Amino acid sequence: PQIKPRPLIRQLDEAAINRIAAGEVLERPASAVKELVENAIDAGATRIEVVIADGGKTLIRVTDDGCGISAEDLPLALSRHATSKIDGSDLLNINSFGFRGEALPSLGAVGRLRITSRVSGADAACINVAGGQVSAVKPAALTTGTVVELRDIFYATPARLKFLRTDRAEAQAIGDVVKRLAMAEPFISFILRDATGGDSRVVFRTDAETGDLFDALHGRLRRVLGKDFAENALAIDMERDGFHLTGYAALPTYSRGAAIAQFLFVNGRPVRDKMLLGALRAAYMDVLSRDRHPVAALFVTCDPTLVDVNVHPAKAEVRFREPGVVRGLIVSGLRHALADAGHRASTTVAT
Ligand code: ADP
Ligand code: MG
Repeated sequence: PQIKPRPLIRQLDEAAINRIAAGEVLERPASAVKELVENAIDAGATRIEVVIADGGKTLIRVTDDGCGISAEDLPLALSRHATSKIDGSDLLNINSFGFRGEALPSLGAVGRLRITSRVSGADAACINVAGGQVSAVKPAALTTGTVVELRDIFYATPARLKFLRTDRAEAQAIGDVVKRLAMAEPFISFILRDATGGDSRVVFRTDAETGDLFDALHGRLRRVLGKDFAENALAIDMERDGFHLTGYAALPTYSRGAAIAQFLFVNGRPVRDKMLLGALRAAYMDVLSRDRHPVAALFVTCDPTLVDVNVHPAKAEVRFREPGVVRGLIVSGLRHALADAGHRASTTVAT
């Protein structure tokens, strides 16, 4: 019988490790946009601009006016598991979008990445990385903040490139990501441009809202989801056992044929969490037929220690310490709001 040669165990190099990690964090161009915009938000930006071309496949550029990265820190920002956001001692108390230190090295492993940045009181600098090869830090010109430019995403991983959808579908997914993040950050102005073929056209823009957080959030939701939605939606604002639920839930008459307009946020983080989506569905069970789907934008906020966000590489899912309480808050909160509205509607008709 043939004896199989004994395989050798070898340590993968950093570039290979980053490409493997990139497979988890970066599914498509929209995932890169999400990571970069979240970094800009974490950096305290008040203005974020996203420029894409060809559905993000050839160009994604995110510009912010946040705190910047110093020239000394630029190589570190590109190295794996390097982050300024946590020190690793308390994974249950996370207040930033990022903490894994994986996005930039992953982007550098699958595309051509260039970061230009300036911290106040210092000169701007830039660094390039392509296919995992990091350049030296060079002087650059920039007045404030950070510009991260990613060209040719997945050129280094052709298998992933083949699975991308049309430019149009990828651009649509990028628009969704920017809108979702914009919904949760009313004090930041966002602009998304499409520069395919050279001319740049504005796809989406929203100025910073003013007022207190509650007013600002509602104002931003109206702007992003449209007047129609706002006119057909009930404002939600309630609290139970340390969990706060706020946002808008649309009347059953404003439902959709698909579950495409359900925006859920946990501590400001857009999520697609099964438990939360199930609770939303359950709240409308008595007032919607099975083939209709509720429209809602809901924010759950709680002490960060009551929810684990480190369950999923892209952080789309979360785990609550007391899922029953959160579910109950959503189901009973929305049912009350819907019943009140139904009652008001029927008394108006009656009188
Ligand atoms: P994480 O966000 O999980 O920390 P990233 O790889 O996304 O990991 O970023 C690494 C580090 O680079 C961040 O911790 C931050 O210090 C810095 N950084 C990234 N993007 C920006 C930005 N737009 N402005 C300022 N600092 C940034
Ligand atoms: Mg990040």
